[in-house]
Parts: sequence; C-alpha cells; structure tokens
Amino acid sequence: MSEAQGHDNGSAPVRVLFIGGCGRSGSTLLDRMLGELPGFVSTGEVRFIWERGLVENRLCGCGEPFRECPFWRSVGEEAFGGWDALDANELVALDRATNRHRYLPLLVAPRLSRSFEGRLARYVDVRGRLYSAIDRVTGGACIVDSTKDPPFAFLLSRVPALDLRVVHLVRDSRGVAFSWTKKVRRPEDVEVPRFMHTYHPVGMGFRWLVYNACFHLLGRLGVPRMMMRYEEFVASPRTEIERVATLLGEEIDKKSFEFVDGRRVELGVHHTISGNPMRFQRGPIELALDEEWRSRLSPVHRRMVSVFTFPLLLRYGYLGPARQRP
Ligand SMILES: [Zn+2]
Repeated sequence: MSEAQGHDNGSAPVRVLFIGGCGRSGSTLLDRMLGELPGFVSTGEVRFIWERGLVENRLCGCGEPFRECPFWRSVGEEAFGGWDALDANELVALDRATNRHRYLPLLVAPRLSRSFEGRLARYVDVRGRLYSAIDRVTGGACIVDSTKDPPFAFLLSRVPALDLRVVHLVRDSRGVAFSWTKKVRRPEDVEVPRFMHTYHPVGMGFRWLVYNACFHLLGRLGVPRMMMRYEEFVASPRTEIERVATLLGEEIDKKSFEFVDGRRVELGVHHTISGNPMRFQRGPIELALDEEWRSRLSPVHRRMVSVFTFPLLLRYGYLGPARQRP
C-alpha cells in the first residue's frame, strides 16, 4: 500500500479517517460525533458523491440539495473549478469499474491488469483532488468518511496525497443481520417514498464476515487501524472517541467534549453525503443500545448467523460471558 506522500508541493498529507465495517453499526453516529470535535469534519459516505450527489442531487445532511449546499459547492470549485466541469455519469461508471469486492486482488496489486491499472490511476487522481479540496476548504480538518465498504478503503489507500487511518467498527453479527431485515424509509426522498435495502439475515451474516475479514487484511497491508465495538461506543462514547484520537496521534481537550454528557450528545449540522437517516437529526440525542435482535430475530436465523459468523464473533468477544476488547 502506498505511504501518504503529501500534496504535490510537499505540504502535509490530507488526513482521512475512514469508518469501515458493515452498515447499521452506528457509523453515521460516530462520523457525526467526531465531526463535533474541533479539527474534524464529518462528510458521510463520500464514495457516493457522484451518484447520490451530482446525479441524483439528494439532500446533504444540512438539509439542502447537494448542488445547493454551500460547503459542497466550495469543494467542487476548489477541486475542479465547479461540479459542471465533471462528467458525473463517467465517474459513476469509473467507480463501478474499480470499486467492487471482485476487484480487491487488483486493488492490492493493480499491475496484474494494465487496463485496471489505467482506470485506477484516473480514479485515484480524481479522488485525490476531491479530498485535497475538502482539506483546503476546511483548513486542514481530519476528514471523517463513513463509507464503510472495504473496496473503497483499499482504493483510498492508493491515493498518494492521503494519510488514511481506519476505525474498524464492529457490531454483533446477529444485531447487524436483524437490522437489515427492517424496512427503513429514506427521509431525503420527500415526493416518492424510497426505502433502504433489506437483506436476508443469513446473506447479511455472510457479508458481515467478508467485510470484517477485509479490514483485517487492510490492517495487515500497513494501513493504521483500530477496532471499535458498537456496543462499547454506545455505552461510553467519550472513551471510544479518545481512543480514535490516539490512533490519529492527537489529544482532545476536555472542553471539546462538552457536546457529550454521559450517553446524551448534542449534534449540530453536518454536510454528510448519504448515510443512515439519523444524519438529519439535530439537537440532543440520547444514545441507546439497540438490542432488539435478542427478542425479535427468529431462533433459526439466530442460530444460522451465529454458526456462519462464528470465527469473528468469537474473536470480537461476542460469545461467552467475558467481553474482552478485540
Ligand atoms: Zn450541506
């Protein structure tokens, strides 16, 4: 994997904190809580900026349609001289032609395919310009990206300008599997109701295993990574965020944590591209551990997901009475 090399002119690298793992593990909440700290900017799932931002013009977390949002407008100007200079559909296609699980071997070793290497070089350049622009617009804030998908993390690790670090966020596989069976409406689609994807619990269990295994591999390849359990994050958010600061080599003073009071957090406005519907919530939020799966996931599915995901459930301390930090 490439080392962070900084900007072309030799200035400091662009700091990106990537939240990796499976959806419904509290990633949007973590993204936004980090965004409340001075020196951090919460950006949501930046992977989807072309499709959900440029093409579909969905709502930014601030409530404005993407193209009307002043923050993203500034980023577009800074990066490309305005979004209209880009062919959004070409970028959506380029994303799909580089950013998939089937391309993981090529993301690790692009030289195996000359055509892939060419596509990746083009995409890495565009992504580098985008994140560098966010860096300049925010005055060098650490960019929190909660895209989560492993291939995108591998891709970002190829962008020379970035200093990429990863929070590998995990949640009990049975909780994740149950959560993806629920029908959740997307709040950004006001006129035509649209819902988030749903998955069969066993299929989701398989995804959970693959996604998490990928982040272990990424760590082995040299990308600085820490693990965080959703359950601990909800129980002691401040402690877990302090651990993130350690990963980044930063100290966060007490005053910066005024927005956290036990399990109650006060959230402001964040310019998030896509993510869980809670990205639109503002004001005080009471953190509550979502353990609905314990009573509502059917015994058959619970057993199947447990068996399927057993190796990592055990490793992460979700089986047995004593939970050790992974
Ligand atoms: Zn916005």
